[in-house]
Formats: sequence, C-alpha cells, structure tokens
Amino acid sequence: MTEGGFSTFLDYRFSFHPSCSRCAASQTRSAVIGMPIPREPVPPWTIPLGCIVTDPVPDWMCGACGYRWAN
Ligand SMILES: [Zn+2]
Repeated sequence: MTEGGFSTFLDYRFSFHPSCSRCAASQTRSAVIGMPIPREPVPPWTIPLGCIVTDPVPDWMCGACGYRWAN
C-alpha cells in the first residue's frame, strides 16, 4: 500500500492518531477498555487496558515511551 504517501497499512492507521505529547512519537495506540477476545488478534494500533482501568481513563497510549493521556 503506497498510495497517499503511506508505505504500510500500519502507517496509514497510525496517521489518524495524535502524536505523543511527551516524546512526539507518531505511533500512538488507541486505548481499548476490556479484555481482548481470546484467540482474536489485537490490532497493533490499539492497546487493551483490561477490565481494571485507572482514573482518568486514557484514550491514547504511546507505543514508544508508554505515556498515556486522555483527550
Ligand atoms: Zn511517547
């Protein structure tokens, strides 16, 4: 997939996500509350938080530095 200047599908997906406000990495993940479905692959652009979440619930998590933030 090379259309639109994106070299990979992952780059395309990550392009919809905000950059990390701490380290400016672009590959931030969308936080998903709840346990991942067994035997279902977790998309690499999401991060499962499990059933126990902190308050405030983060919307995003940086894949580079682990920073979490809410919108
Ligand atoms: Zn970061």
